[in-house]
Amino acid sequence: MEDCVFCKIAEGRIPAKTVYEDESVLAFHDMAPKAPVHVLVIPKRHAENILAARALDDSSLAHLFRTVAEVAARLGLDKTGFRVISNCGADACQEVGHLHIHILGGKKLSPKID
Ligand code: AMP
Repeated sequence: MEDCVFCKIAEGRIPAKTVYEDESVLAFHDMAPKAPVHVLVIPKRHAENILAARALDDSSLAHLFRTVAEVAARLGLDKTGFRVISNCGADACQEVGHLHIHILGGKKLSPKID
C-alpha cells in the first residue's frame, strides 16, 4: 500500500535491520527499541491490524505466529522469556497502520503492560 512505511520496508524501499525474511513474512529491529531486544514481525501483504486477521486465511496467520516463535528462539529469548504485543487502533496507540507483532525481551520486563 502506498504511504505505508511497513509496506515500503517489506518492498525494500526503506532500509531495516532484518532478522528474518521469507516470501510472506519479515522481521526487523524496531528503530526506537523499548527493550534490549525489540523486533517487529509483519506480514508482507498489507493488513491494517489484528482485526484484519478475520479476513486472513488460517495458514497465513499460523505462519505469522510460528515466525514470531522462531524469531524469538533465534534471538535466544526462548531461554529467558519475552513479551508479544500487537497494538490495535487508537486506544492502544497504534502508530503504524500495518499489522505488526512486537517481540520485546533481553531484560526482566515490567509486570505492567498498560
Ligand atoms: P505501534 O504502531 O504503536 O505498535 O508501533 C510502531 C512501531 O514501529 C514503533 O515501536 C516504532 O518505533 C516502529 N517503527 C516505525 N517506523 C519504523 C521503521 N522505519 N523502522 C523500524 N521501526 C519502525
